[in-house]
Amino acid sequence: MRLRLVLFDLDGTLVDCAGAGRRSLEAAFRSVLGIDGIEAPSRKVRFEGKTDPWIIRDIAREAGVPPERIEETEGRIRKAYLAALREEMARPDPRRRVMPGVRELLDVLRGRPDVRLGLLTGNLEEGARLKLAPFGLNPHFPTGGFSSDAPDRREIARIARERVSRLAHASVPAERVAVVGDTELDVDCARANGFRAIAVPSGWVPRERLEEARPDALLDSLGDLEAALRALEIDGAA
Ligand SMILES: [Mg+2]
Repeated sequence: MRLRLVLFDLDGTLVDCAGAGRRSLEAAFRSVLGIDGIEAPSRKVRFEGKTDPWIIRDIAREAGVPPERIEETEGRIRKAYLAALREEMARPDPRRRVMPGVRELLDVLRGRPDVRLGLLTGNLEEGARLKLAPFGLNPHFPTGGFSSDAPDRREIARIARERVSRLAHASVPAERVAVVGDTELDVDCARANGFRAIAVPSGWVPRERLEEARPDALLDSLGDLEAALRALEIDGAA
């Protein structure tokens, strides 16, 4: 059987955690670096599609923290971030949601013997797991690529394919790997590895920017199951 891999971005594609990541990173900057008023510089930083190490550097720059100070403290910042995120996600928040169509699509894909799923996210692995846990989505994704593996999304994509293939005991050619994501950076990391790129706007990145990135398919949402499966080149019959 010829396998297909489908690699999903997390924030804005699978789920919307209503700013839990941003608040947790701000808490980490406050507790580790003693910066009050971190919200203003943090607000100037775009998070969508970026990896956590990249976001940490961007916030530090906006807050006037020297790069060497970040190098010294990054381990502590990550730890404080994950602790804050654990607390955030343990508190119920009605604004959090699974993106439209995601559960149905994942159920269909998981029922297919010729499809394997993986995560491809700029989150640290532990952060990704914390964000998916309240929605019960972790069991869909036994493995993936994370920013705890590499700070660069293109490299994370390469690692995700390698891990998911290894787990499946298969070698899957690049053209049978698809990336589903909500930003032009998801499209870019797919392209860089020769994977298919499926863009699904979350509303956090303007649709025109996704169009300019020229994905193989640009969907309105994952809510149209037939359209999503077509974009993934998966036919209706299992
Ligand atoms: Mg995203």
